[in-house]
Amino acid sequence: AAHRKVALVTGANKGIGRGVAAQLAAAGMTVLIGARDPRRGEEAAAALREADGDVHAVALDVTDAASVREAARWIEDRFGRLDVLVNNAGISGSGRVSPENARDQIPSTVDLDMVRRVFETNVLGVIAVTNAVLPLLRRSPEPRVVNVSSHAASMTIFSDPDGPMTALLPSAAYSPSKSALNALTVQYANELRKDGVLVNAVAPGFVATDSNDHTGVLTVEQGAAVVVRLATLGADGPTAGFFGEEGPIPW
Ligand code: NDP
Repeated sequence: AAHRKVALVTGANKGIGRGVAAQLAAAGMTVLIGARDPRRGEEAAAALREADGDVHAVALDVTDAASVREAARWIEDRFGRLDVLVNNAGISGSGRVSPENARDQIPSTVDLDMVRRVFETNVLGVIAVTNAVLPLLRRSPEPRVVNVSSHAASMTIFSDPDGPMTALLPSAAYSPSKSALNALTVQYANELRKDGVLVNAVAPGFVATDSNDHTGVLTVEQGAAVVVRLATLGADGPTAGFFGEEGPIPW
């Protein structure tokens, strides 16, 4: 199995990340389930092994530098390289997404500590994990990085007063954190273009997960599919892009 591609998915013990892990495993990759709670990571990995996947759990809190370092070291010791990184771990900042909870992100009254927490996970966590495993990705013949973003990242969509996002309350935390993630995606893509690392951002759509009390309209399988497509791009695939199920999304 030495030729199997190795993929790390952060926040993969549940939700979209777990769906991505399942699909990458079904495609024949060795999949590492990053989870901040090792017990829940192991449970998810065991369930995917039941379905015949080569799946392992790795303890990984993206906001904890020591945890990130340890996870990268474990991957290096065990596999020596990484082919795919899916930066999926993310938080809304407001608990379960609901119109009521979203009030605490309204710009004029937002709590800065909440903004810090959201950026710590959704933005800085991505930098920390990407940089920790980049030496391993560089050993892959076809390295791919997918950053799980959101339609909420799109300033184009939000600045249209008649657009689809006007139903949402303004957000000074989650939405800008995903805009920053998209910006980071482009910067990484440009730095790593010459090394053949394709780096893209993806919006999975409104997916039924714990994060929205399962009010999302897409299944985890549907949301994961577009992430998997960008994680398995051929050598002629795009980099520095932002994609949804419907194709490129305006920024
Ligand atoms: P879930 O809440 O179901 O899953 C989030 C995952 O991220 C969990 O595994 C959670 O771990 C993990 N996580 C959170 N913080 C950390 C951390 N510090 N370190 C490691 N893991 C962490 O959410 P979704 O599956 O819905 O969301 C996954 C991604 O998709 C997020 O980036 C989200 O912003 C994005 N997204 C989701 C949409 C949707 O409709 N669901 C729409 C657009 C984007 P734990 O179980 O320990 O909390």
